Amino acid sequence: MSAKLQTPIDYLKGVGPNRAGLLRKELGIHTYQDLINLFPNRYIDRTQYYKIKGLQRNNADVQVIGKIIGFKEVAQKRGKRLVATFQDDTGTIELVWFRGQKWIRENLKLNKTYVAFGKTNWYGGKFSMAHPELEVQEAHEKNLRSAMQPVYPSTEKLSNSGITNRVISKIMQQLFIETNGKFVETLPENLRSELKLISKKSALFNVHFPKSQELLSRAQFRLKFEELFYIQLQLIIKNLVHKSKIKGFPFEQVGYYFNTFFKEHLPFDLTNAQKRVLKEIRSDLGSNAQMNRLLQGDVGSGKTIVALMSMLMALDNGFQACLMAPTEILSVQHYSGLNELCKQLNINIEILTGSTKTSKRKEIHKILENGELQILIGTHALLEDKVKFKNLGLAIIDEQHRFGVAQRSKLWRKNTSPPHVLVMTATPIPRTLAMSVYGDLDISIIDELPPGRKSIKTVHRYDKNRLNVFRFIRDEISKGRQIYIVYPLIQESENMDYKDLMDGYESIARDFPTPDYQISIVHGKMKPADKDYEMQRFIKGETQIMVATTVIEVGVNVPNASVMIIESAERFGLSQLHQLRGRVGRGAEQSYCILMTSYKLSNDSKTRLETMVKTNDGFEIAEVDLRLRGPGDLMGTQQSGVLNLKIADIIKDNDILQLARYHSKNILKLDPTLSNTDNKVILDTYRSLSKYKNIWNYIS
Ligand code: ADP
Ligand code: MG
Repeated sequence: MSAKLQTPIDYLKGVGPNRAGLLRKELGIHTYQDLINLFPNRYIDRTQYYKIKGLQRNNADVQVIGKIIGFKEVAQKRGKRLVATFQDDTGTIELVWFRGQKWIRENLKLNKTYVAFGKTNWYGGKFSMAHPELEVQEAHEKNLRSAMQPVYPSTEKLSNSGITNRVISKIMQQLFIETNGKFVETLPENLRSELKLISKKSALFNVHFPKSQELLSRAQFRLKFEELFYIQLQLIIKNLVHKSKIKGFPFEQVGYYFNTFFKEHLPFDLTNAQKRVLKEIRSDLGSNAQMNRLLQGDVGSGKTIVALMSMLMALDNGFQACLMAPTEILSVQHYSGLNELCKQLNINIEILTGSTKTSKRKEIHKILENGELQILIGTHALLEDKVKFKNLGLAIIDEQHRFGVAQRSKLWRKNTSPPHVLVMTATPIPRTLAMSVYGDLDISIIDELPPGRKSIKTVHRYDKNRLNVFRFIRDEISKGRQIYIVYPLIQESENMDYKDLMDGYESIARDFPTPDYQISIVHGKMKPADKDYEMQRFIKGETQIMVATTVIEVGVNVPNASVMIIESAERFGLSQLHQLRGRVGRGAEQSYCILMTSYKLSNDSKTRLETMVKTNDGFEIAEVDLRLRGPGDLMGTQQSGVLNLKIADIIKDNDILQLARYHSKNILKLDPTLSNTDNKVILDTYRSLSKYKNIWNYIS
């Protein structure tokens, strides 16, 4: 990176303090370097002109050649707008200004030929263009350097302050003049020739001033590759450094607990995927480095048993283990399931949550600290400072998307040296995305469901079919099955949702009266103890119907429940719907998921419902979800830094991402310290990227 590029943007000719302030505030552009890295969102073919008669309602930006044949002022609620009639030989449109009218009146001339450029609106039987860019035709032709004109990211404030796209193009030009277009190469020669990547200099030039479509594509490819390459490099280095610096506790042996459980108490044969994942975990735990692993597996793929067997490895080596889950219900469920299995092995296991009584809590603290307690299950309560382990060897976090990175590291600090960490998530994300988002974690995937699972039949029904749905429920209950009915609960409208839930409950109670039917109800406003009581009634089969809000979304396991009814399904996100559906299909019976909605559905809702009906595959669903919501949203804000890309698109450019990952891995494998002369440019760039974090802020 040349020093010149660190010059504050204020010094660029054409950028005064005023504009500089706006560029900083609106686009985060502080230096020349930042401006260079402001990449166009798209390009417009400026050699293409529209005739007014040929305009379509859904045209984006268009260019029209014509003359202004008259102005008028139109009064409106506040102030007035200026309207010009713009004519070509096929018709007229209106040009409209809400601001800057004086300047327009003084500078635009009647009956002179202009090129008007902008977005058209269709209103009142007419096309209009608000705040068009206008250029005298001759000047336009002279200025036309390239057919593809970049369109830069902008904000309302910028365009209102006169920093239009044209202004940005102009200052970009000025930047190339002042720097002579000399930009330091940031990828090594051998890599560039292997991948036929054009030079940095040429790429930057052509991305801002494309000479041809072909050069533009090559410029974009090169810059996207570079962006993804350095992100991957950083993640991989972080991972390597982590492994070499952070010593874990080597679990040298597989002993009594693991072997006895495996030989005598395992309730079923492990799937091949479970076996593979256990091997991966085993090999991490046996090494000197601290494990930091993400375990992905669709709902019902059997992550719990993997968690238990991993904990047994810790116990076999004299260490304690803990399992943290995001909700009380889920912790209780984990505890009761694991307690059964642990009893057979005489393992000391306890549960700690927000509602654990003080006396019990004290006792747990004590036996945890003196080492008597071997496994602790619980909620966030495990993170409290009072909770001290004697020697925590393995911490498992279930359903990671509910916990932040900060909490993960809080668990680490519970020891002098960090325990091994296994993060389990049932929100599958495409593997390559996972690699770039959680690049500092190793990843294991359970990509196989236990045998004999019948795939869940999913249908979409409108509210008015409710009677049929109720009849279906009655039939299923008469066969001995249990039913979930779930209502949405969204923070903002909590009270209304609560009312919906209660109304729903009452109408269900009417249609399914006692003593023939028993109904459980669970929602967020209940005390934990009451929730647990209702939940237990359902688990024991004392109630046939469970009416609930999304508190049951995560992890609940009642194999006899075979029908999941989701009310107002259009209000749920895809991954949530998939999670909810995952509550059924856990037993031997055919299971069903019924998505109830009103008739009014947005396009996105329709796509979500169709996807749910079409597939049971969590990874496929995740891909659709990603397309609908974009990656930033997917992981919550905590991870978005990594995804804040300048030019590449993590979804669309997935193949480039894989290429970049392959090459960064390969280079580090051959030259871990990047000390070969060939790789000097990588090292230099890598260093300057970490130094100028604020500039390349996509490096997390
Ligand atoms: P999840 O991955 O969603 O946490 P669970 O661990 O709760 O899934 O497992 C779902 C159900 O499948 C449980 O009832 C569990 O006992 C059962 N299960 C897990 N592994 C197997 C297997 N290999 N064969 C048969 N059933 C299994
Ligand atoms: Mg689970």
